[in-house]
Amino acid sequence: MKYIKYINNLIKEKYPVQLEFHQAVKEVTESLEPILKKYNKYEQNAILERLVIPDREIFFRVTWVDDDGKIQVNRGCRIEFNSAIGPYKGGLRFHPSVNPGIIKFLGFEQIFKNALTTLAMGGGKGGSDFDPKGKSDGEVMRFCQAFMNELYRHIGAHTDVPAGDIGVGGREIGYLYGQYRKLTNRFDGVLTGKALNWGGSLVRTEATGYGCVYFAQNMLKEKGEDLEGKICTVSGSGNVAIYTIEKLQQLGAIPVTISDSKGMIYDKNGIDLALLKEIKEVKRLSLEAYAKEKKNAQYTPVSKYKDGINPVWHVPCFAAFPSATQNELNLKDAKALLKNGCKCVSEGANMPSTIDAVHEFINAKICYGPGKAANAGGVAVSGLEMAQNASMTPWTFEYTDKRLYQIMEDIFNNASQTAKEFNAEGNLVVGANIAGFRKVADSMIDQGVL
Ligand code: GLU
Repeated sequence: MKYIKYINNLIKEKYPVQLEFHQAVKEVTESLEPILKKYNKYEQNAILERLVIPDREIFFRVTWVDDDGKIQVNRGCRIEFNSAIGPYKGGLRFHPSVNPGIIKFLGFEQIFKNALTTLAMGGGKGGSDFDPKGKSDGEVMRFCQAFMNELYRHIGAHTDVPAGDIGVGGREIGYLYGQYRKLTNRFDGVLTGKALNWGGSLVRTEATGYGCVYFAQNMLKEKGEDLEGKICTVSGSGNVAIYTIEKLQQLGAIPVTISDSKGMIYDKNGIDLALLKEIKEVKRLSLEAYAKEKKNAQYTPVSKYKDGINPVWHVPCFAAFPSATQNELNLKDAKALLKNGCKCVSEGANMPSTIDAVHEFINAKICYGPGKAANAGGVAVSGLEMAQNASMTPWTFEYTDKRLYQIMEDIFNNASQTAKEFNAEGNLVVGANIAGFRKVADSMIDQGVL
C-alpha cells in the first residue's frame, strides 16, 4: 500500500541509521494495511506521520564521578512518543548498546502495548549507554542521581512516568526516585517499580514474566492445550526470565534453559530457580556461577555459538519464551523451533524475533504472542501501581495478580477478535497491532490536529 511505503521511506530518510526503529515501524505498519484500507480517515488525518515522529525527544549529558575519583560522561535520553490516551509511560534502559534507534523502537512499541493494557497510558521510553554491570552501588547511585538531575524537569505523575527495563531494576529506581523527591520536594507516583515501603505495588516485580505465561495459557487454551508437564525454553536471566520460570514451575511445566550476555545454560531436569535468583538478584553474577554449582547443567559460552544461531532455540521444547532482548531469535532459530515441535512462542522481551522469524511462526499457525501483547503485563501492573498511588491505597498480592491475569486475558481476546474482524484469524500480530493502533488513532482524531 502506497501510504505504508511512504511512511517507511520517510523514517528511513529522516533517521537513516536507526535500524531497530525501521524494523519496529515496518512490523507495525505492514499489519495495519486492512484497517488503513477500510477507513481512509487515518491517512486523511496523517495519523501514521504523527505516530512515527515522537512528540518530543530529549537528549542530555550525564556527568558523574566513579570510585577512583575519575569523571565519567554518559549520554541520557527520554523520548516522549504519544500521550493521546494517558501520560507518557515506559521504562528506562541502561545498557552500553543504547542509542537513539533502540530507544525509538522501544518507545514506538510502547504506544501500542500500553493501549492494549486497557489502562490510560501513553507511550515513551528512555535510557542511557551507562552499564551498571560491574559498578559498585555507590557508582550506580551517583549515576542515577546525575541522570535524574536532568530528567526530573521533564517527568511527572500526570506527564511522563518512567520505570525499569534492561539494567534498571529496584536498586536503580530507588536512587532515581530519591533524587526526584529531593529535587522537587514532592512524593508523587512519578516512577513505577518502586519498593513496597514507599509506594510500590505487589506483583510489579513478577508482572512481565507472570503475564507472559498467562498470555501463553490463553493462546493454548483456545487449542485445548496447557503447559502442565511440558518442556519449555526461556532465554535471558533477568527479571522477565526469572518470573517466567517461576510461573511455569507453578503450573507444572519444566523450563530447561536460561542465558545471559556470556552464555547459556541447559539444565535438562529443570532450572533451579532458588539458585538462579541467588546468582542474579543477590550476587549479580554471570551464569557461569550456575554451572559451577550444578555439575549436571550444560554451559555453552557465547564464543562457542555457531552459524549465527542462538542455541537456546535449538533445544527441543513445547513452548518458547524469548525474554532477553531484541532480535535474539532469527529465521534459522525459528525453523529449528518448529522442526523440533514447538507449539507456542510467547515473547517476554521487546521485539525478540526478527521479522522473517515472525512470518515463519505465523505461516506455521502455531500460537505466537508478539511482545507488545505478551509482555504487556509489566507495564499493566505499572498502571495498577499508578492507580494505587493516586488513591493512596495498596492492594493485596492476590487481588493485583487477579487483575493482571484479567488484563492478559482481555489483551488476548481483544487481539484475537480484532484479527478475526480483519480476516486474519489466529494472527495475533495483525490483531494486536490493529487493536492498539485503533484506540490511539481514534483518540488522536477526537482531540484534533496537534
Ligand atoms: N520496560 C517495560 C516494558 O517494556 C515496563 C515499562 C513500564 O512499566 O513502564 O514494557
